[in-house]
Order: sequence, then C-alpha cells, then structure tokens
Amino acid sequence: MKTKTSVSVGLLFALGLSGCGPAADASAESETESPLAIAIHGGAGTITRENMSAQREAEFDAALREATEAGYAILEAGGDSVDAVIAAVQVMEGNPLFNAGIGAVYTYQGEHELDASIMRGDSREAGAVAGVKTVESPIALAREIMQNSRHVMLSGEGASQFAREQGLSEVENNHFNSEHRYQQLQDALKELERSQQAGEQIASNPNWDPNFNMGTVGAVALDSAGNLAAATSTGGMTAKQYGRIGDSPIIGAGTWADNESCAVSSTGHGEYFIRYQVAADICSRVLYQDKDIVTAGDEVIHQVLPSAGGTGGVIIVDNKGNVHMPFNTEGMYRASKTSSQPLTVGIYNDEE
Ligand code: ASP
Repeated sequence: MKTKTSVSVGLLFALGLSGCGPAADASAESETESPLAIAIHGGAGTITRENMSAQREAEFDAALREATEAGYAILEAGGDSVDAVIAAVQVMEGNPLFNAGIGAVYTYQGEHELDASIMRGDSREAGAVAGVKTVESPIALAREIMQNSRHVMLSGEGASQFAREQGLSEVENNHFNSEHRYQQLQDALKELERSQQAGEQIASNPNWDPNFNMGTVGAVALDSAGNLAAATSTGGMTAKQYGRIGDSPIIGAGTWADNESCAVSSTGHGEYFIRYQVAADICSRVLYQDKDIVTAGDEVIHQVLPSAGGTGGVIIVDNKGNVHMPFNTEGMYRASKTSSQPLTVGIYNDEE
C-alpha cells in the first residue's frame, strides 16, 4: 500500500529547511511504501521432528499459512490491524490442531474454559475475556469488550451475558471437544494423582509434560496507517484448577500493543508470563532502552524467563514492520508475512 507524503514549500521555508531556489515546484512530493506485517503463533512446546509425522507437519503448515494469509489479505486491502489479527486468530480458533476454540484443552473437571485478549497500539484500548465456556469465538468477544463496554476485562457468566447482548454466537461447551486433548487430560490426571501420592510439587515436577501448559494462538500486525495490534486466544492449561486464569487474557503479560514500540503475543507457561509481564516488558525495553525487538525479545525470552524457570515464546512486530519470534522451547508453531518478506512458516528451533 502506497502513501503519499506531500510537504508544501512554504512550510519548508517557514521551518528554514528548504534549499530550493525560487523556481522550485509548489510542493515536494514523495511516494513511500507503508510497511505491512503480520506474525502469528500456534503455541510453543516440546515440538521435535522425532515426534512429528509428515502428515501432521503438513497440517500445521497449511493451517499456519491459512491464518497468516487471512490476516495479511486485510492489511493488503488497506484494512485495520485489529481486523487482521482477529481474522488470523479466528482461523486457528476454528482448527482443532490448536489449543483455542475447537481443540481447546480440558480443565481438571473435564470442561473447556477459554481466555482471550486484544489490544490496539494507537489508543492502547484493550479488551479481555476470561473463563468463558460457551462463546464460540473468544477473540471476537474480546473485541466487543474493547469497543462496546466500559471495561477492559470480563469473566465467566457475566462475559457470556455480554456476548449474548452483543449478538455473538454461542455453542455448547462440547463444541470445543477433541480426542487428542481428551487423551492429554487423561495423561495429566494420571500424573497429578501419581505426584500427589508421592507428595511432589507439580510446579517442579520433571515428569509434568510441558505441552500440558501450551498451545495458545496469537497474532500481531502492523497496518498501512502505522497502527499495531495484538491478539491472543487460548484454552489455557490442561487440567487447570477451577477458575485458573493464565497470561493470555492479561494485558501486559499475554498481549501488548503500543504504536511507539511494538506488539507482542505470548505463548507458554502462563504463570511465569504473568509474573514477568513478558509482553509489556519486551516493548518497554524497546521504548525506554531504545533496543530493537531482537535484542529486547531475546533478553526476556532467553535470559529473564529461563532464569526463573519459565518456558515459551512470543511473536513481536515493531512499528517499522520488523518481525521477531523468539522461544526457549524445542519448537513454536509460527509464521509471518510482511511487505518486504514472503510468507515463512517455522515449527522447530533449528529454523530461522
Ligand atoms: N499461556 C497459556 C496459559 O498459560 C498457555 C499456552 O500458551 O499454551 O494459559
């Protein structure tokens, strides 16, 4: 998308900036490309080539491409970054491969409790929803909360009531069921029982599969007007206790967007992302320490989080359209496309 920058010569003279003679044109006009960018993730975890069949890899690849293209098409048509991140996230909410919407993990009680949030970088308006059970698209509800409520975060039954008032579609909780997540719950319950009997702490249990804590989806984007946005949606953590809320709906931890610095969506062990305010911390390093997103993102994901025991990753886009996607796990489902780079998909930690 092209933007025209037109500066009048009169203004240049007034500012003492013109080196032009009297014969200069009435306006100095230049055409510049406004950068566009989108990056998405579909969760981080113990994702290795050994554990991945060719068919499953192809399914993830196709899903990540579909989500990225859905968001990028909106940016390319001159659309808003908020619409772009929602379009990308909704593709993944609808795909059972991901721990968001259909395919969300099960709680300890065998249900699904969904969290999501969205933030826009121009006004820092934000919307978040926690612990909803029957809203078909939690990210759509997060946007309604941002745009049409007096609040930033709604939870549980109140959030569902608001969704109804806004005319969003509702489904039965079992709409989000999937066989592989059910199996994951059975494995988690067995491990919980074993560790309780042994008197072990789950938080430091080496047998606790890190994948029980992961699989969230998210998107960050920069649109042609220079506005950043970030969105995150999740089922949370397998076998989570009643009422547990992770980082995904917490502005500053799971989601952050500020036009002056960057937009971030997180995935990983949410308790650590909350305690270290991961998304906002990365953008604060960009804003106040003048770091680029590679330095800021790597510091938080590869130094701050691991020293505390936190695992996961983030996707970051800055206000110039640069993208960085650091993670400290064996893999993170991710993809990006910008006006200067074609669509790229990554899964493992040995790929760019
Ligand atoms: N961060 C999410 C949570 O803790 C889980 C994930 O990223 O997969 O709820």
